Amino acid sequence: AEKIKMNTPLVEMDGDEMTRIIWKMIKDTLLEPYIDLKTEYYDLGIEKRDETDDLITVDAALAIKKYGVGVKCATITPNAERVKEYNLKKMWKSPNGTIRAVLDGTVFRTPIIIDSIKPFVKNWTKPITVARHAYGDVYKDVEYRVDKPGKVELVFTSDDGEETRLTVHEFNGPGVVLGMHNLDASIISFARSCFNYSLDLKQDLWFASKDTISKVYDHRFKDIFDEIYNTEYSEKFKAAGINYFYTLIDDAIARVIKSEGGFVWACKNYDGDVMSDMVATAFGSLAMMTSVLVSPEGYYEFEAAHGTVQRHYYQHQKGQATSTNSMATLYAWTGALRKRGELDGIGGLIDFTNKLEMAAVKTLKEGVLTKDLAELSNIPHKKVVYTEEFLKEIKKRLEQVL
Ligand code: NAD
Repeated sequence: AEKIKMNTPLVEMDGDEMTRIIWKMIKDTLLEPYIDLKTEYYDLGIEKRDETDDLITVDAALAIKKYGVGVKCATITPNAERVKEYNLKKMWKSPNGTIRAVLDGTVFRTPIIIDSIKPFVKNWTKPITVARHAYGDVYKDVEYRVDKPGKVELVFTSDDGEETRLTVHEFNGPGVVLGMHNLDASIISFARSCFNYSLDLKQDLWFASKDTISKVYDHRFKDIFDEIYNTEYSEKFKAAGINYFYTLIDDAIARVIKSEGGFVWACKNYDGDVMSDMVATAFGSLAMMTSVLVSPEGYYEFEAAHGTVQRHYYQHQKGQATSTNSMATLYAWTGALRKRGELDGIGGLIDFTNKLEMAAVKTLKEGVLTKDLAELSNIPHKKVVYTEEFLKEIKKRLEQVL
């Protein structure tokens, strides 16, 4: 059969360690035989980042701005050990942080669900997508340890010299204090990313804060979401048959647990930090978590939520077989190619990504699993396979549906 043609290049960002190995295997066996793959390649592997003084990461982010869609492999964020291991010039920043700073987006994480792996919350039959606001609050705070009696004040001095003072607390003894902030502009782009993504998925959007207690700070989040919804999205939501739902964060938690899933949950920065780990754990496995960065302008970067699976890489280097789960990395590719297909109106490409995902899910459903899933699955006839074999099993099922 003829290969599927693409118009616009996909921005391809290669990465590190075991995920770099999987990356190539997926391309070689599941993509290139069927698609005339058109990518603009950026090697974000640690050696290349070091060699280019990390400029390649910025170039990749700018390319996503140019073309609209990127797919990224997991990458090493260097720490002191990595600097030694790879003899790096510097402890380069997290590539994901660099890319997010250029695109100013929100990260959406969604679990891949299959029957044989039961979520800990038994009524969760559909995925829950958590969207975490990635700016401000306690992550950009100023903290102070009060060690003797005294008064803490909040002072705002405007550029034209006007001063506003509020007493935070009059301390009789030791204690602690923190100051934090957020920006309307950041909350607005967060809201837009969330509304856009809900429309993409045709799923309701939930948002929650503690506006009854935090009558100015959290209330501002609530008001901005309301205003953006009413002025820009309510008509589109109606047309798509979906809803925007706001409630208090404690009420939201109760409803999320009792729900069947199938919605996008927008979270303030701290809530998202905590709740995305809860949701991921409750659904089963990090290796089954997909992740996409959506910018308010509508640029997309797809990746797996997990890291480079370092331990497996060292085994692989020693020539030992590994059983690495490639689902989330595969879904990063299908997600990105599907989006490219949608933007360029290439039905064949969209169709292929759907079939590839179906083949992958079918493989797991039939009990052919990597080791991490075998430990979780209650299926009676399990066949635990190595990394390469797992992809071969997917290919076999893909060929059947093509
Ligand atoms: P990790 O996600 O690579 O591994 C965490 C644990 O989950 C390990 O026990 C691993 O064996 C298991 N695991 C994860 N994905 C798996 C898969 N696909 N199949 C089977 N098991 C899987 O995270 P880590 O060990 O904390 O970090 C390793 C490296 O990855 C670090 O250098 C870190 O900087 C980097 N990292 C990158 C990203 C990213 O690029 N988005 C995210 C997290 C960590």
